[in-house]
Amino acid sequence: MRKLIAGNWKMHGSLADNEALLRALCGGLAAGVHADVAVCVPAPYLAQVQALCTGSPVTWGAQDVSAHEAGPYTGEVSASMLRDFGCRWAIVGHSERRQYHGETDEIVARKAQQALACGITPIVCVGETEAERAQGDTEIVVKRQLAAVIHVVRHCISEIVVAYEPVWAIGTGRTATPEQAQAVHAVLRAQLRAASASERRVRILYGGSMNAGNAAALLAQPDIDGGLIGSASLRAHEFLQIIAAAS
Ligand code: PEP
Repeated sequence: MRKLIAGNWKMHGSLADNEALLRALCGGLAAGVHADVAVCVPAPYLAQVQALCTGSPVTWGAQDVSAHEAGPYTGEVSASMLRDFGCRWAIVGHSERRQYHGETDEIVARKAQQALACGITPIVCVGETEAERAQGDTEIVVKRQLAAVIHVVRHCISEIVVAYEPVWAIGTGRTATPEQAQAVHAVLRAQLRAASASERRVRILYGGSMNAGNAAALLAQPDIDGGLIGSASLRAHEFLQIIAAAS
């Protein structure tokens, strides 16, 4: 299975910065790439990213999607709207959305369902806080978060991507060790295996301060199928180094 390296730009970017970043990224991949590459960008920039990346190895997606199909949900962006802009991916359940926007496991599951219904692959984020890890609850938390999605999208669970993102590692510069990450990925893999005969199709990404220096060791783990990369994805040179480590 090819690894997937997905950038999460979060709320960063401008028309000028995006263009420079994507030209450097696409240029750096022009000679060939052996991993799947994605950028998940703020919704207002999807048309720009579609224009700049069409015909390149870089696919694109959103950082969130509505749990609703359509209707009176001011400010929300539906999966069908994302599809209009060629989105291949939608992150759902990022810890920043769970934390700052009150997204529950059930809401995240419905978002994943909406994405799938429109042919968009949800990148379902799960991960424990520092306090939960300290209490020994890491496994319970990530399994509960994934179980909610399995429950709702059961028959097409093999169509999702999972991202294990320990909350304490996101944007902090503190990365899970390869052994810590692999241990959680193995738990998630087993949970997926119990839910689907096609679980090997599901890529489980690691996210949390992945960078050019630690990517190779993390990506060498047997159940780490790629990375979800925040700040390092905003630096084309470093993002390209991470992609090279996955190739
Ligand atoms: C993220 O936001 O998904 C993320 C992994 O961020 P960072 O790489 O900056 O820790």
